[in-house]
Amino acid sequence: MAFATLTDVFVDQIDDLSSAESQLVEALPKLAAAASDDKLRDAIELHLEQTQGQIERLEKIRTLLGISSEEKKCRGMAGLIAEGDETIKVSGAGPAKDAAIIAAAQRVEHYEIAAYGTARTLADELGFEDAKRLLGETLDEESAADQLLSRLATGGIFRGGINADANV
Ligand code: FE
Ligand code: ZN
Ligand code: FE
Repeated sequence: MAFATLTDVFVDQIDDLSSAESQLVEALPKLAAAASDDKLRDAIELHLEQTQGQIERLEKIRTLLGISSEEKKCRGMAGLIAEGDETIKVSGAGPAKDAAIIAAAQRVEHYEIAAYGTARTLADELGFEDAKRLLGETLDEESAADQLLSRLATGGIFRGGINADANV
């Protein structure tokens, strides 16, 4: 692989995203299982389903453009998941643990938002209209997932925890 054309860069980004999403499909069930709050667990499980759809979109983009995938590991996502695993292993439960889980999950979403934003911009530059649309759909899901995590955090999980702790 060489970066001779913008298409080479685009294909590399798609390969990296495929690796990132595949790793996430393995990691999200563990994160969901570690959540104490039902709404947080539901949100992570919903995003697991969306992530499976996102992998299918990346496959569709390859089919549409007739590009083959190269085996590649997204080291950025591997690192974020490793940090998530560390978070899961720390003892504790309830709002404080949930806050740590949300922190880990939002790092993942922001990483994906950055990557999909770049990929969509490249698709636009290259005139790959269908790919641009598909990448935009995933980008919207990532943004919505990030916003839902923020709403869960600010909508009571943390506050309830602080109050509960104050009563101990
Ligand atoms: Fe994703
Ligand atoms: Zn990566
Ligand atoms: Fe995501």
